[in-house]
Amino acid sequence: MRVGKSIILFGPPGAGKGTQSGLISSITGKPQVSTGDMLREAVKEGTDLGKSAQSYMENGLLVPDQVIMDLIRVRLTNDDADSGLLFDGFPRTLPQAMALEQLTEVEKVISLVVEDDEIVSRITGRRTDPVSGEIYHVVFKPAPPEVSGRLVQRNDDTEETVRKRLATFHQQTAPLSEYYRERGLLIEIDGSGDIKQVSASIGTVLEKDIGS
Ligand code: AMP
Repeated sequence: MRVGKSIILFGPPGAGKGTQSGLISSITGKPQVSTGDMLREAVKEGTDLGKSAQSYMENGLLVPDQVIMDLIRVRLTNDDADSGLLFDGFPRTLPQAMALEQLTEVEKVISLVVEDDEIVSRITGRRTDPVSGEIYHVVFKPAPPEVSGRLVQRNDDTEETVRKRLATFHQQTAPLSEYYRERGLLIEIDGSGDIKQVSASIGTVLEKDIGS
């Protein structure tokens, strides 16, 4: 089974993929699919899949491709996937990228480029509202007072794990940008500015495409 054209939001952990995905979804109409969110949900629910993924996640390692592709295949059976999806944090390996090609045509890959040191300071200050799923930052995007008391920190957002996740990204995921560049699909965006600036750059890229 194949779904409509899809978009990939690519970049290291903490590049702002989760923060920017809402904007891209609203412009393109494609629902966001985050494999990281799906895995965290499975861990929280204590499913067998969650139990097997947990130790990889806590150690900054990638969950095996087979597990990820099973999750994606199930997600694609939802009706809302028919006109394509916005993938956030997927694919992360070459085998995942190749398996995805059997399931959808990749229309474009929006790659957020951010230096490692900036990522470490971003991620260690990142907090999530468990009620709305909204992502905040203690310095760059403080939560309103009525929300700040209930914020949680992901347990893989410590500096030690972030460094491991970055190493994993550089070894296993970053080479994918070449794969998509060769296919003429890669759009690189400077992700180091503030959130609004990055959103504006993404908006410009997408609107240019829609207008053409
Ligand atoms: P994320 O929220 O995207 O940073 O993902 C959190 C963790 O989930 C990662 O550090 C990996 O352990 C795991 N994970 C998420 N997506 C994938 C994927 N596509 N392939 C392998 N592991 C993944």
